[in-house]
Formats: sequence, structure tokens, C-alpha cells
Amino acid sequence: MNSLHDMTVAELAQALKAKQVSAVEVATGFLARLGGNPHNAFLDIDSEVTLAQAQASDARLAAGTGGLLEGVPVAHKDVFVTRDFATTAGSKILTGYRSPFDATLVQKLGASAQGGAGMVTLGKLNCDEFAMGSANENSAFGKVTNPWDTARVPGGSSGGSAAAVAARLTPAATGTDTGGSIRQPASFCGITGIKPTYGRASRYGMIAYASSLDQGGPMARTAEDCALLLSAMCGPDIDRDSTSLDMPAEDFTASLNQSLEGLRIGIPKEFFGEGLHADVRAAVDGALREYEKLGARLVPISLPRTELSIPVYYIIAPAEASSNLSRFDGVKFGHRAKDYTDLVDMYKKTRAEGFGNEVKRRIMTGAYVLSHGYYDAYYLQAQKIRRMIADDFQNAFKECDVIAGPVAPSVAWKFGENANDPVADYLADIFTLPASLAGLPGMSVPAGFGAQGMPVGLQLIGNYFKEAQLLNAAHRLQQATDFHLRKPEGLQ
Ligand code: GLN
Repeated sequence: MNSLHDMTVAELAQALKAKQVSAVEVATGFLARLGGNPHNAFLDIDSEVTLAQAQASDARLAAGTGGLLEGVPVAHKDVFVTRDFATTAGSKILTGYRSPFDATLVQKLGASAQGGAGMVTLGKLNCDEFAMGSANENSAFGKVTNPWDTARVPGGSSGGSAAAVAARLTPAATGTDTGGSIRQPASFCGITGIKPTYGRASRYGMIAYASSLDQGGPMARTAEDCALLLSAMCGPDIDRDSTSLDMPAEDFTASLNQSLEGLRIGIPKEFFGEGLHADVRAAVDGALREYEKLGARLVPISLPRTELSIPVYYIIAPAEASSNLSRFDGVKFGHRAKDYTDLVDMYKKTRAEGFGNEVKRRIMTGAYVLSHGYYDAYYLQAQKIRRMIADDFQNAFKECDVIAGPVAPSVAWKFGENANDPVADYLADIFTLPASLAGLPGMSVPAGFGAQGMPVGLQLIGNYFKEAQLLNAAHRLQQATDFHLRKPEGLQ
């Protein structure tokens, strides 16, 4: 048996079922690795809670009543509310907040006694404040470092999730993706992550950033592990999330190992233009060659409005954020300013103290584009182009089955490189935003290494509800390559 922390979710689940190891032993092993909080990946750890969950898993394993992933550890991005751990969304404004309930995805992965898959929670993961960012530099609780090079960002906003999985602090994590926050950090940290079709996994208990885009999903080292977690995460939750789709959950592992013979992979020419760094291009090209060897056919396609996805997203997402974040006013949740003269003064001071700069910037942008006189010029236009971007994908899917390209124009950048230039971060989202705006499923699969040995991810985008196809394509690539198995140098 590999050391526990090197085992995949699938391997751990099997070892636990076969009683080769107990859930308490697994949890204890991971908790020991979390001591000192490597990479500042975690925001809350509570070994008592974790061990109590592990004991409950052991009891169910002994009784033969365990869930699909009974006893396997997971950690949650801090935008998922949890009863047993603090929830901050990476913001000072939620300091001291405890949710009275678990997010649907936390519940679905959690205690099998409550119908979940039986996973044991290791804690909560650092992220950009309210999931706004591409580098995890916007967390109020400090940056997360990239396990491949601690001078570099882990990506964002699910940077804690990606770093924790890459550093083997947890075999799997949840993330959320509004404009790329599962795919881009997965790419930067050399792991695998999938954002399902918008609406397939419930948003209930996921602290809202931009509700028409937000989507939770799994991050792990392999496509098989992502398939295992995603199978547990999907399914309707209509009573609690009105945009949750009435689509049954699916066993995504059932369609792994299907042949790729004849698969048409669309290559959008707009994803391979000037801004793409040569090392990323080389790794992506290498993965595409692998697909050809596996029997797939590359088809040139066009997504003509790719560039417009940046202004469109950075109008729509802040617009929704400005509305969603109005609930943080010092009355209901978390932080409240100490000295104030009246109610309005209390709101103002609470929000001035509680929100970080990027969040304030987005609230201001959002309020501006929604305001009288600008709504038509910005917000309405953006909504129209959003529809055209979705239509462009449907045109493309007439000629191909999946779309492949880079996740980001470069490998993970160094801390501070974009620190005074938020727009530089925004521009780097160019390849993940289109699928988000269209609500399509997308994933990142390790595809090689670029400058200074930093990981590069291949992005796969599928049509609506084609998660199984994406996961199979990623799985086949992982059978033919070993990028997902490599470890950051020096990692024990
Ligand atoms: N980088 C994008 C943003 O800052 C995407 C973030 C996300 O997907 N949560 O909005």
C-alpha cells in the first residue's frame, strides 16, 4: 500500500471497505500533515470534529452500512457553509460566523447517516474573499502558496483547495467556479477539477458571489476521483435552490474507460492566439497529440466572442455581487463595527472595515453598471453578448463533441506580479470565462509542465450535461500520461 496521503480517493475508499485501514487512522494521518498549516491552505481545522466523524465512519464500515466514500477525507472551500466549522468566505466581515446548517454539497459528501457519501471533513480551505480573484491574493487571511513553488500563486479563487490537494493535505476538496475558480487553480497546482453544468449541483449554502454563474464541483488528483465525488454532489435540490436542475444524479464512474475512437475535439482558434505563452502551448499541444493517438480527431473551430467574455463577465459578475453582498451589513452575519452613530453609519463602518479592496472594487463596479442611465449601456448589453457567447458554443458543438484548449494563458505567476493591477488578473481569465457565461461544464486536466517546472492544465469543455464525456476523456489521458501522478519536489 502507498503511504496514506499518496492514495487517491478511489484507493482510500477501497482500503477502508477492505478494512486494511480505519477511518480514524486515515483522519489521524492527514491531521498530522495539517499541523503548522502548510501553504496556509486551511482556514479552520478542528481535529475533535474530524475524529468524531471518522469514528462514526468506522462504525458504519464495521456494520457494512457505509456510504460510497465512507471514511475518505475531504476539505471544503470556505464559501460552503458548515455547521461544525467556521465559515468566512475568506472575508473579515464573516469573522465569528457559524452557520446553523450545512450546504447541500457538504451534506451530500458528508455523513452517510444523513444520506451522504460518508466523507470525513478535515476542515475549511482558504480562498479569495467571496471567491473574487485569480490568485488567492485577495483572502483576508493571508495568501496561499503554490506547493510547486512557494514564490508563486496557487491560482484562485479556490487556491486553498488546489494547494491542499497538490500538497497531499487532503485527497480531495470542493471548489466553486464562477469564472474559472476550479479550473484555473487546478491547472496552476497540477491537479484535476471539474465544474459541472450550471444547475447540476446545488448552490444551497454556497455563499453567493454571482448567482447566475456560481457552480460547485470537486478537485482531486485524478479524473476518476473527481467522477466519484461529482456523482455524490449532483442531483436536484429544487426546494432549496430554485436554479437547481431537475436532473437525476449520475454515476460518472460508469462511463470511464470508454474508447475515444472517433471523438471530435474542437480546437478554438481564439484560444491559441498571441497572448498564449509558448510553454503552455507546448504542453497543451502535447496533450492533443496524445488524444490523436487515442483515436480522437482534432477539428478547428471558432469561438468568435472569446475576447468579449472578459468585459461581459466583469460587468455581470460584479453586478450580481453588488446585490448579493448587500446582506453583509453588520446586522445578520459576522462582524459589526464598534463605534457608530446611527444605523446607516453602522452599515457604512461595518462594510468599510469588513470588506477588502477587491470586494469593494466589485461592489462599486456592480452598482455602477446597474445604475439608472448605465444599465442599458453596460448590463443589458453584457446580457445580450452573454447569450451570443452561449450560441457560439452551440454552433461549435455542431462540429465537435468536446472542446479543448488551455486553461490559462500562462503558468502560475509570482506573488506581487499583478498586485497593483487588478485588470491583469481579469485578462488572465480569458479562457475560462466563456464556458462559465454559457453555463457549460468544463474541467482542467494536468497536461504537462512549463516554465520553471510549473504545471500546465488542459481545459476540456463539454456541451450541457456532458460531464461523463469530459471525465472519460480526462481519465483516458491520465491512463496514457503520468502528469497527474507527479509530486512537487521535496514533498514527502
Ligand atoms: N477570477 C474570476 C473572478 O475573479 C473567477 C473567480 C471565480 O470563479 N470564483 O471573478
